[in-house]
Amino acid sequence: HAKNRGGATYQFFNESMNKNAVRRLQVENQLRHALRNNYLQVHYQPKVSLRTNKFVGLEALVRLEIPDVGIVSPAEFIPMAEETGLIIEVGERVLRQTCRDMREWVEAGAVDGRVAVNLSAKQFLQPDLAKQITTILKEEKLNPTYLELEITEGVVMDDPERAIEIMTELNKLGIHLALDDFGTGYSSLAYLKRFPIQTLKIDKAFIDDINGAERDRNMVASIVAMAHNLGLDVVAEGVVDLEQANTLSNLKCEFAQGYLFAQPLRRDQFLEHISTTLATLKKTV
Ligand code: C2E
Ligand code: MG
Ligand code: MG
Ligand code: MG
Repeated sequence: HAKNRGGATYQFFNESMNKNAVRRLQVENQLRHALRNNYLQVHYQPKVSLRTNKFVGLEALVRLEIPDVGIVSPAEFIPMAEETGLIIEVGERVLRQTCRDMREWVEAGAVDGRVAVNLSAKQFLQPDLAKQITTILKEEKLNPTYLELEITEGVVMDDPERAIEIMTELNKLGIHLALDDFGTGYSSLAYLKRFPIQTLKIDKAFIDDINGAERDRNMVASIVAMAHNLGLDVVAEGVVDLEQANTLSNLKCEFAQGYLFAQPLRRDQFLEHISTTLATLKKTV
């Protein structure tokens, strides 16, 4: 809000902010264009058990694949989609595509477990969220027990009482809930014990130096113990090497995702990759 004061015009945008604003406008335009042309792609990253080395589930991660431009990451366009409200349409498309793919894989007997879909604040707080999801599950003929939703601490801590109501409603449908990026937001332990969630996902930031830094290792050990005491599953995010996987396994963290196992994969590569990656993994671990 640039204002005139005593005739002087304040410049709120310096050059780099201006570039930023231009970039944001570009991303917003790209997003509208992408929605019109169906350039949204859902990629999938496997989740594995560090105990059995088996594939136990997957996470849907959206991308914009724009011809002649390339792939735009969600880190860049999701915040923009939130601000503009386009997230509602993005979210609906991601959920529909995910349910459709999952149903195909479940029916083929290729995939079991749950597929996790990320929800941002605006999506989570939609008054008719449960109804919307129910409709999509019905239309795509996927049983809700194959679905999990991931939300971050920031999203639920904004209005915890309301969040508990929404989560309870989703749980009643048979949908599981995971608290994503755990440890990076501000969490209240008093609420954590009341949230009807099934899973904690430990943020990559704690995993990165789990072998180098004793403090990080101790932190992860504490989170795992606390989660288990609350009856929750724990997933480590961003596992990139075997040493990390072994340490996590020793700390009794049962589940993991990360480039060690697989990057998020295009739908058509997913089945092929999970079989080959996990076959190799079994031989190495
Ligand atoms: P997230 O849900 O915490 O997802 C994990 C992110 O870490 C993903 O980034 C994934 O590709 C990346 N990752 C996984 N393993 C590794 C690893 O070993 N090393 C490194 N360096 N990165 C790893 P991505 O796909 O760029 O997504 C970023 C964030 O965007 C997600 O974080 C999530 O918050 C959001 N997001 C993604 N898809 C959706 C969506 O469909 N809807 C909404 N609302 N948000 C989404
Ligand atoms: Mg996630
Ligand atoms: Mg995360
Ligand atoms: Mg994240």
